Amino acid sequence: MELFEIRTVRDVMQWLDEQNIPYSSLGDTAMGDPILAIEKPGEGAPVMITAGAHAGEPAGVFAALSILRDWTCKNPLVMVPLRDPFGFQGYEACLSHALKRPVRFETHAELWAMLKDNADALIYEDGDFLLVEIADILFTNLLPPADIALYAGPRTVEQRVNRTLKEHPELVAKTAGKRIVFPSNAGPVAENVWDFYRAFSAEITEAGIVADMNRRFGGDDEPNEVRYLRALCDRVQPPVVLDLHEGQGSSYYFFVPDYFGNRQIEKYTNIMHETLKNQGEQVTTLQDVENRLGGHIRESFDEPLPGVLVDKGLSSPQKDSGFSTYAGRYGAAITVETGRWAPLEKRVRLHLLAASALLDEMGKNG
Ligand SMILES: [Zn+2]
Repeated sequence: MELFEIRTVRDVMQWLDEQNIPYSSLGDTAMGDPILAIEKPGEGAPVMITAGAHAGEPAGVFAALSILRDWTCKNPLVMVPLRDPFGFQGYEACLSHALKRPVRFETHAELWAMLKDNADALIYEDGDFLLVEIADILFTNLLPPADIALYAGPRTVEQRVNRTLKEHPELVAKTAGKRIVFPSNAGPVAENVWDFYRAFSAEITEAGIVADMNRRFGGDDEPNEVRYLRALCDRVQPPVVLDLHEGQGSSYYFFVPDYFGNRQIEKYTNIMHETLKNQGEQVTTLQDVENRLGGHIRESFDEPLPGVLVDKGLSSPQKDSGFSTYAGRYGAAITVETGRWAPLEKRVRLHLLAASALLDEMGKNG
């Protein structure tokens, strides 16, 4: 199986089998998909590499698997290559799972009709936005902007769900604790993501807020996707964690929980940043991200270097946090973002360049 043809966690397992790479399952998600882990022994500090927390971000998954296949670093490796297998398989497969029969659709209009025809409950409908429940799973559709240059990905759906639940608090009781599926709404340019090829999955918290599989680490209500990875992280206590994502733009940027308090993080981030810059890449800045997602983004982040985003509120490990913030209690945990509007090959290559720069640096220091 070719790397870029992988659609599902079963495909990942087949690919690993073909590469003769042993793996285990940390446990199943509530939907019955395994969370895979690979552990390669070695000497020195273990490196943890994770990807696919947000299911519509396949470049990180493909990069992680490439790193695994080509691993020559002497350090032990601990990898969770696909943190949200349910959403990764795409919107049709998520909906087929709920309906217990295969469904196909091509357009937002077809999805809209299919959701309404098959809904156990119509939760909310307003112009371009639809929220229904099917077999205990919430499904949404949000019509994307007419101009493909304005596509901003699934975060715009998240913003719409959060706003809807805030404006209609009576809907919180109907939705809290449930899985929710969004279209990726990344448009025709976002190879291997598009609008439906990958879905985005999350849960609605008791407070009525969308919480994806990269949140709630160490909290009281971790979904299995979070609990198993958090337990692995607690066992390994990795001094270095790379979490691979895809975000805005068509280049790269970093989320770093503790840039100011941890010299190791600062050093590793700067080395990855320099390496990508030396490839002639123009970093995606906080201003670029704000242009797509809105001004509230700026309130949450410092930007010590262009494209290095440091969460103001989460600069120390705390309860109920994102994965890299949680993992930061054990060492340098860095989130690498490549822009989902670059060609897939480039998105993967940027991840590989960043990772190899970090691993080379670790190798120098033993
Ligand atoms: Zn992400």
